[in-house]
Amino acid sequence: MGAESPKEECGLFGVWAPGEEVARLTYFGLFALQHRGQESAGIAVSDGRNLLVYKDLGLVSQVFSEATLATLQGDLGMGHNRYSTTGSTTWENAQPAFKTDGTRSLALGHNGNLVNTAQLAELAGRSGGATTDTDLVATLMARRIDAGLETAAMEVLPTLQGAFCFVMVDERSVYAARDPYGLRPMSLGRLPGGFVVASETCALDIVGATYIRDVEPGELIRIDDRGLETFRFAESARRALCIFEFVYLARADSRLNGRTVHEVRRELGRRLAEEAPTDADLVIPVPDTGHSAAQGYAEVSSIPYGEGLMKNRYVGRTFIQPSQSLRERGVKLKLNPIPDAIRGKRLVVIDDSIVRGTTTRQIVQALREAGAAEIHTRITCPPIKWPCFYGIDMSTRSELVASDLSVEEVRAFVGADSLGYLSMDGMVAATGSPKGDFCRACFDGEYPVPIPDHAGKFLLERQPAD
Ligand code: SF4
Repeated sequence: MGAESPKEECGLFGVWAPGEEVARLTYFGLFALQHRGQESAGIAVSDGRNLLVYKDLGLVSQVFSEATLATLQGDLGMGHNRYSTTGSTTWENAQPAFKTDGTRSLALGHNGNLVNTAQLAELAGRSGGATTDTDLVATLMARRIDAGLETAAMEVLPTLQGAFCFVMVDERSVYAARDPYGLRPMSLGRLPGGFVVASETCALDIVGATYIRDVEPGELIRIDDRGLETFRFAESARRALCIFEFVYLARADSRLNGRTVHEVRRELGRRLAEEAPTDADLVIPVPDTGHSAAQGYAEVSSIPYGEGLMKNRYVGRTFIQPSQSLRERGVKLKLNPIPDAIRGKRLVVIDDSIVRGTTTRQIVQALREAGAAEIHTRITCPPIKWPCFYGIDMSTRSELVASDLSVEEVRAFVGADSLGYLSMDGMVAATGSPKGDFCRACFDGEYPVPIPDHAGKFLLERQPAD
């Protein structure tokens, strides 16, 4: 949901554009992707001879200044926003990861989560060295850097399992790769004098790039003064774009699978109104992701749409705080009811998802305290019952309120007068793509990429409620 955000792992941007201010372009690209990660930001640039990396903890606007950008001169660059789902929040874990053998260097950023890190650590001959799967991959790539990053990538990428998009640079080239299932999005765009890759199309728009196509699942792209070249490092058995990108993760102005996320969310709202109608006076969104869907719900239900909750946009996503108690306090920093807009009204409250349920409960309580007569919570996806192993921080069943509770029990927990979820069929139909093209595992437990044994043991077992 808008406030109880499952944490997602990372935004990526890469640019090859000689003669342009590539660090500044990367900065703006990362700025557009800030919603994908707010713990750290980093930029790497190369002028053909030297590869420079600057990274730190914080938001893009906190990490970089005019002075810093001025030192990052080059013809190509890449950037990364991080939200950790593995490894802790330390400078060392900020990305891009940088490796060098003294003569050749590489910088690498990752979006996703690998499921065979134990096996990869063995391959790398290190059990405790790498603190993140990203560092592990960078280490494996660096071992073959003498043969060139393209050769290294074509050797290492087929050994990886899980969700990954990578943007990498060496002194001369920009590389982008996407896992064979295409779990995380990655788009390719064109500038007048170069190319751009980005996790979402909103980052192409901000730098004035024209969308060309998505990076294909199983594809490695190389961009340099030889032009754009594409390589296939794995065949795709099937596609499995994370459907949660449409529901919550991606920005509303981005396009996925050829559809604007805003339009899909609006359709989620329309279908929700058909599947879970109710009598009410006002439809309000939980900002920001609820806006498009609330418009769709209002359209079909003929119940007026209005604003009832204000979001402080400067807090960042609520669940940056790791502890439950901080989470519970966090929502008040971020969302505040508008009493005059909701007093005495029967509300339909549109939200994208319920993860732990605690934030929904706080919103319901805050709306009641502000004078709402009735609260009918409507959710634009089915109940989240299964953990995600592909980069979204919903990693144990015990933290998912719907994993053990019925819809009626969740309703009672959050304290709403009624609770309605969109069905799987409704959610998929709203995207305009076939069901088989998506990962939907957190909703139905069908994992497209086999999950590791230890994950099954520790994360799928029912655990004591927290
Ligand atoms: S399990 Fe859910 S959140 Fe994770 S990749 Fe699949 S659809 Fe996305």
